[in-house]
Amino acid sequence: MTIKKDIRALTKDQLRDFFVQQGDQAFRGNQVYEWLWSKSAHKFEDMTNLSLETRALLEDNFVINHIRVDVMQRSSDGTIKNAVRLHDDLIVESVLIPTSKRTTACVSSQVGCSLDCKFCATARLKRMRNLNPDEIYDQVVAIDNESRLYFNRPLSNIVFMGMGEPLMNYNNVLKAIDKITSDEGLAMSPKRITVSTSGVPKMIKKMADDGVKFKLAVSLHSAIDEVRTSIMPFNATFPLKDLREALEYWYLKTRDRITYEYVVWEGINDTKKDVEALIQFCKFAPSKVNLIEYNPIDDGDFKQASSKAIDMYIAMLEANRITVTVRRSRGKDIDAACGQLANKA
Ligand code: SAH
Repeated sequence: MTIKKDIRALTKDQLRDFFVQQGDQAFRGNQVYEWLWSKSAHKFEDMTNLSLETRALLEDNFVINHIRVDVMQRSSDGTIKNAVRLHDDLIVESVLIPTSKRTTACVSSQVGCSLDCKFCATARLKRMRNLNPDEIYDQVVAIDNESRLYFNRPLSNIVFMGMGEPLMNYNNVLKAIDKITSDEGLAMSPKRITVSTSGVPKMIKKMADDGVKFKLAVSLHSAIDEVRTSIMPFNATFPLKDLREALEYWYLKTRDRITYEYVVWEGINDTKKDVEALIQFCKFAPSKVNLIEYNPIDDGDFKQASSKAIDMYIAMLEANRITVTVRRSRGKDIDAACGQLANKA
């Protein structure tokens, strides 16, 4: 038996070529492409403006490896978490976060994660594989549909803050974003998309060279190498000096403000020295620090710092004209908050 190809791995030109080879018109490729992407068709039989023969031809040659939302959970705060089943039965999670002004999709880029952040539940899963561009795109479409259904409005923002390290699956993430922002996909502005990374210096430079238009967020958590390596061990391979150099390169090319994600933990990074290091680290470019609330993943070593420590961070950052926001967690009751995605549903 020949293994049928995933039709959505084909570009529009390849689809057009396929039909020409079959003695049909290239235009047929455009029609199928539109069904696959703008109309999110899950089955060939849904492509109603194609003849029965054309649909059978597609059926004989291809599959549509669509994702399936297996379980949908709703939090008391409105947050929705989808457990998404992939064609090979692996599962990833994505989250819809509604606020009064926006609805944000938090999507996954890998099954599991190859990084080993000590405070993150996804890290315990290890990396099983990268997601394909269409698997990333499908998560967004699923959330857009839920947003329209439950909140009467389309999705407004996307953050790559679900499972996985997006810059370790850069090509597929880029292809997915191309589709999300194209007129044939969701026509979303790249300015409404944020890619969050633990900081892979080489890839940050590549992004700058590629002239990407989406936003960058860096999960910093500490600006002191020794501390950062103790909680994010890969920092030993990509030390802060290299990260900072890559970010300077990014800023020179994009002139775009850099956002840092930062959790303050008791006894780990809650002293004045930690804030001073953060201020020094941020100085080279306009920066924003998002102080994220810690979401406990077990009864382990990490504990959210006191509000006194958080207030010290806010006061010192503001005194240095660094924008600071405190981000409250959403969806905690359904394990949908940052760092809690671990396929527990
Ligand atoms: N790998 C990417 C994106 C996924 S994590 C990255 O590291 O940026 C999204 C954000 O959640 C990161 O800032 C991450 O550090 C943070 N995070 C992970 N575990 C967390 C936890 N238990 N509580 C709060 N934030 C957490």
